[in-house]
Amino acid sequence: MDKELISGRKKRLLKPETLMMGYGYKPEWSEGAVKCPIFQTSTFVFKNARDGKEYFEMAQGVRKPGEHGAGLIYSRINNPDLEILENRLTVWDEAEACAVFASGMAAITTTVMEFVQPGDFIITSEPVYGGTDSLLEHIIKKFNVRAIDFGAKHTKEQILQMVDQADARNKIAMIFLETPANPTNDLIDLQMIVDLAETLSTPQRKVITAVDNTFLGPVFQHPLKHGIDLVLYSATKYIGGHSDVVAGACLGSKELITRVRGMRNIFGSMSDPWTTWLLMRSLETLKMRMEKANTNAKLVADFLNKHPKIKKVHYLGLLKEYDPQYAIYKKQCLAPGAMISFEVDGNEETAFKVLDSLKMIHVAVSLGGTESLAEHPAAMTHSGVEPEKRKEFGITDNLLRLSVGVEAAEDIIWDMDQALATI
Ligand SMILES: *Cc1c(COP(=O)(O)O)cnc(C)c1O
Repeated sequence: MDKELISGRKKRLLKPETLMMGYGYKPEWSEGAVKCPIFQTSTFVFKNARDGKEYFEMAQGVRKPGEHGAGLIYSRINNPDLEILENRLTVWDEAEACAVFASGMAAITTTVMEFVQPGDFIITSEPVYGGTDSLLEHIIKKFNVRAIDFGAKHTKEQILQMVDQADARNKIAMIFLETPANPTNDLIDLQMIVDLAETLSTPQRKVITAVDNTFLGPVFQHPLKHGIDLVLYSATKYIGGHSDVVAGACLGSKELITRVRGMRNIFGSMSDPWTTWLLMRSLETLKMRMEKANTNAKLVADFLNKHPKIKKVHYLGLLKEYDPQYAIYKKQCLAPGAMISFEVDGNEETAFKVLDSLKMIHVAVSLGGTESLAEHPAAMTHSGVEPEKRKEFGITDNLLRLSVGVEAAEDIIWDMDQALATI
């Protein structure tokens, strides 16, 4: 399926949701099969030795890919399902290129490791996903790379002060963001970050900006369009969408993704044919799933916001115009999404009581699936974050996170209502 169709002299540019049915695949490649088959093979036969040599040169970037892309070599390096999925995923973010990974963490670790060197610093927003926090606060320290943390409340000037205090000018490799943040929905101004990266870049080195877009993307937020260099996903969440696969993705310019892919080839952190095939299937319903979850979440958030046992609801659709976060929301988000966190009136015990009283909604980590899931960030997804930092960034003991699914909204509200009645 091509992006552009021509009828007479008129061109028709197909919408992303239409392209999800087949973009990047042609039935004549596979005996007329409407759907791209699963290429469950580890290796590919070269027509002759010279082809083999040229394919390796393409994979190593010393030869430009031919008309049909780089030749197929070996499924750690490339595979038809992987490549077709990658091309299809570029559509939403209008990215030049994409690399798909075995998990969101595989995408994040591989990307970070490509762009840092010993002695470097990474500026990172907080809070971030627990695994990302471990990578940035603990693992990269082993390689003498340090993190400078900031939150939604900090201005560009304040972040620059932190950089100077850490003696990190000219040593910044990356700015890594999660916006909206997991689990608080805090927003970071992308335009401010692009300015900051410009200020911190040197003639020798451009500071790379990367956004974990798992919460709103790829339908409701497109950081690349705001000047961000790389967008990352846990494809386990909305892209996969059925809580049955683990995968990740990184998108950006051809130049940057070629570097990320080079690292992936060596780490072996790519996704496999079966998973990539399932993700192509998931993409066909991505927009309708995200839209339905978004509609449900609004109803659920309104219900929670009025509930006497709830102190505060963190949901983008409830931001007030006087809140500085509202202006950021208007600039860079297309919808509030379907992630809600809320503070119950009480402590950890009260919050656990609510979780344990749910009858339809499962108590499980992960998010973005068709079914609603609830969890306790401080004790579960963010338990690895230092307690001090949890407190500073609002991951309190009475906070619960709800990933709103595509069930009937009335059933989700009924379940929340009866669970809250127990406290
Ligand atoms: C789940 C998640 C990750 C990690 O993804 P995996 O697929 O579990 O490795 C990263 N970032 C965010 C925001 C997430 O929700």
